Amino acid sequence: MKKKVLLITTGGTIAAQMSEDGLRPELGSSELLHYLDGLHNYYDIDSQELLNLDSSNIQIDEWILIARAIHRALPDYDGIVVTHGTDTMAYTAAMVSFMLRGLKKPVVFTGSQMPIDHLLTDARNNLYTAFATVETGIPGVTLAFDRKVMNGTRAVKVRTMGFEAFESVNAPYLGEVFADGMHTSAIAPPPEELNAPVELCDKVCRDVFLLKVVPGINSDVLSMLSCMRYRGIVIEAFGAGGLQFVHGNMIEQLTNLTARGISVVVCSQCLYEASNLSIYEVGKKLLSCGVIPGGDMTTEATVTKLMWALGQTNDPNEVRKIFATNYCGEITL
Ligand code: ASP
Repeated sequence: MKKKVLLITTGGTIAAQMSEDGLRPELGSSELLHYLDGLHNYYDIDSQELLNLDSSNIQIDEWILIARAIHRALPDYDGIVVTHGTDTMAYTAAMVSFMLRGLKKPVVFTGSQMPIDHLLTDARNNLYTAFATVETGIPGVTLAFDRKVMNGTRAVKVRTMGFEAFESVNAPYLGEVFADGMHTSAIAPPPEELNAPVELCDKVCRDVFLLKVVPGINSDVLSMLSCMRYRGIVIEAFGAGGLQFVHGNMIEQLTNLTARGISVVVCSQCLYEASNLSIYEVGKKLLSCGVIPGGDMTTEATVTKLMWALGQTNDPNEVRKIFATNYCGEITL
């Protein structure tokens, strides 16, 4: 039996064509399928053009639209493939992972570095890998790119031009295509579990800020964020989790923020491995001023998790509990 797959398109380079103003998304879902000769022989495919945007323009409203479209379609399909611009795909994949609770079917994001109508494009391979991910039954939200499949909350775009544009950070790949087909370490759920209800939790908080600290940063920026009514702040700290406290004491400012009920999560500017606030004096100071440790989450997963957590609750203690929970493989506890 052929698997029934819905292709949802949202734009990005994969659907782009050259215009006088540069590359911009133009092709709809049936036009994309037109380039995938023979795919209909393997899958029973429907398609839906949901958006046609450069992914720089995919923001919170679009995340909600995408999550709702997936949620609506899930009962009728074995899996869903979503094409998306690569620039913000890791954010969308992470947010949709948090929004779809109890998801067992495959929902696979993909895109490409080159438009699908280019002879040298990576689009066809990426789409074939995404469809193979549905075939293999790798559960939950994943991102398929350059013949590899990764958890949607672990994906990071690491290259602007190279075809290996995404890496799975701090987590093994869930699948990889070799000459004998897709190899996977993921376990497909038993068929009777596939249709278990999926809860759509699409309330998110828009008032979340990401601050990358640099040497010499003016710590007043933190009180300014509080005046701007941000409810959540992710701090990308140095190394295992450091920031300045000798000159320009950020610790004092952070203590004021957490005392006002603002949730502050600390993650690392380093791409690989976990932040750890229990090693250095500065880390311990951070912990005692009430910040939440981000562990080994990517920045993309940390920001979207904080937006999602603050959408679920106003209580900072509940936010802390959400961060101490692994929902979809986003954190190693
Ligand atoms: N600017 C494009 C986008 O994110 C890049 C791409 O898709 O590769 O929509």
